[in-house]
Amino acid sequence: MGEPTSLQHSTIKSVLSKPQIERIIEAVEGRFDEQVEFLTQLVRAASLRGNEAGIQKIVSNALEKRGYDVRSFAIDPAHIGKDPAFSPTRFDLKDSTIVVGSKRPPRESGRSLALNAHVDVVPVGTSARWKYEPFSATREGDWLYGRGAGDMKAGLTANLFALDALSAAGFDLKGAVQFQSVIEEETTGNGAAMVLAEGFRADAVLISEPTDEKVVSANTGVMKFAITVQGVPAHPFEVATGRSAIDIAVRTIEHLRQLEQEWIAERPIAQPDFASVGNPIALTIGTISGGEWLASVPSECRFEGRIGFYPGEVAEARAARFASFLKKAFLDDPLLKGCPAPEIEWVGVKQGGYVLPPGSEAEELLAKAHSLADSSERELLRFVMPCYLDAAVFALHGDMTSLVYGPVAEHIHAVDERVSLPSLLRVTKAIALFAAAWCGIEARAPQV
Ligand SMILES: [Zn+2]
Repeated sequence: MGEPTSLQHSTIKSVLSKPQIERIIEAVEGRFDEQVEFLTQLVRAASLRGNEAGIQKIVSNALEKRGYDVRSFAIDPAHIGKDPAFSPTRFDLKDSTIVVGSKRPPRESGRSLALNAHVDVVPVGTSARWKYEPFSATREGDWLYGRGAGDMKAGLTANLFALDALSAAGFDLKGAVQFQSVIEEETTGNGAAMVLAEGFRADAVLISEPTDEKVVSANTGVMKFAITVQGVPAHPFEVATGRSAIDIAVRTIEHLRQLEQEWIAERPIAQPDFASVGNPIALTIGTISGGEWLASVPSECRFEGRIGFYPGEVAEARAARFASFLKKAFLDDPLLKGCPAPEIEWVGVKQGGYVLPPGSEAEELLAKAHSLADSSERELLRFVMPCYLDAAVFALHGDMTSLVYGPVAEHIHAVDERVSLPSLLRVTKAIALFAAAWCGIEARAPQV
């Protein structure tokens, strides 16, 4: 559902008075130590793929304590391959659930809002290379270190404590609010897809990914693949009769680099946001394994990766071009000719990109909230995120205004991931003010 049309956008100051804004900001500040403590607890719940049960328990307890109507549900694999919001996977996630907490005012007169965050994190790599244990959640000055601290447990706490602050300041939202804690953002996007499949919708969704306090104007579509190539195994003594599957894989990757350049050159002029993105396609080969014995010509090699494409395009069309490019390479390249055709599997996100149309009322209100959260009258900057975001699922398949905006973080998916705590405080204030302005607030009726 799109946002209601209005002839003139409301400004934040026509919705919130100066004393209301001050009370909300103070309420965020008053709970910030507790927020950082909660973030520490979340980082310590090492929520790698398939191990999200622990953190989701912490989140659902926190929501229940606050009086949300809480639902937990798993990803139903029956949707995969049928519902275009879902991406292919065979990973068993039966123990991991999605948690959604909802609150609805008795008399609903404002717009609804979903605040979304994902709890799944990517592997740490070599722990020994980290300054602090990756799941120790160590604080050093203004930074909190840890895998997932920035991407995106800090954002999750911003969503939760922004809503807490409104309540602590004595306000009720006039619109319904959902707090969504999803899984699978890093791999398939099927957590967000399942939220839609369960019927959750709102007039806008805000996802507090680490964006350096900017708003995402567009992202790229992404496809994740696994390619298996076959060689001819042989003893070194008869090396001329063999064909190394590892050499074939390396050659195939060289061809894919050429495809990447071709796709970069297709940068759409109609989308000026992409002009400044160095490599929007970002072909990444993330894993490779092959061979059976160190002194034999290897018979099989498999590698996995991801490749991007531009918003407005359908993933299936790009996937077909990817497959026909490889087919042709195996026919034309003398080094690949005669080898069995490579096997392509789609093993994760296979989703289009989205664009946030400029000038929406949601973005205008967020810009004002962003500026009020800091005394420097700063502007809200837009930027392109050339990677997958769950916002694509909500925008493309839920037809929702999707804002992605969150704190400053460094080294996400890398070594020494860390989030800036002063930035987290500003973002929490901005989200609280945005929620208040978007949904509307009223003073809570005295309890009897
Ligand atoms: Zn993320």
